[in-house]
Amino acid sequence: MSDAKIRGSCLCGAIRYEAGPATGPMGHCHCETCRKAHGAAFSTTLRVPRASFRWLSGEEQLRSFESSPGKQRRFCGRCGSHLVAGWEDQDQLILRAGCIDGDPGARPAVHIWTSHKAAWYDIDAELPALAEGAPRRSGGASR
Ligand SMILES: [Zn+2]
Ligand SMILES: [Zn+2]
Repeated sequence: MSDAKIRGSCLCGAIRYEAGPATGPMGHCHCETCRKAHGAAFSTTLRVPRASFRWLSGEEQLRSFESSPGKQRRFCGRCGSHLVAGWEDQDQLILRAGCIDGDPGARPAVHIWTSHKAAWYDIDAELPALAEGAPRRSGGASR
């Protein structure tokens, strides 16, 4: 695990943060609320001490959704990127790894909440790996 500060930002670039170093393993969360919040098969997460976290810009754009009692999911009100989540009574925050800029050093070590896993996603599947998106008929990859 790296000692370096982790930096992240939202899709539109308005919100930026700095945190870390990470305190726990990186993991893929398949819980239903993560799937819905991110519109994805799972959300990759990394924990950092709450005391190490600070917003660098765009805090006024932040919105929050309480997905379970006491758990706030914070996202950009302009572009919708989910950046951070946390339980109000815990001294750790959960970074949404997809919004981390650069290499945080950590690598995924675990899948959690697979009891909520999307039926269409097979954790053990070996899929073709493309450097860019699947080619469109008109040429060029989409993203
Ligand atoms: Zn944004
Ligand atoms: Zn989850």
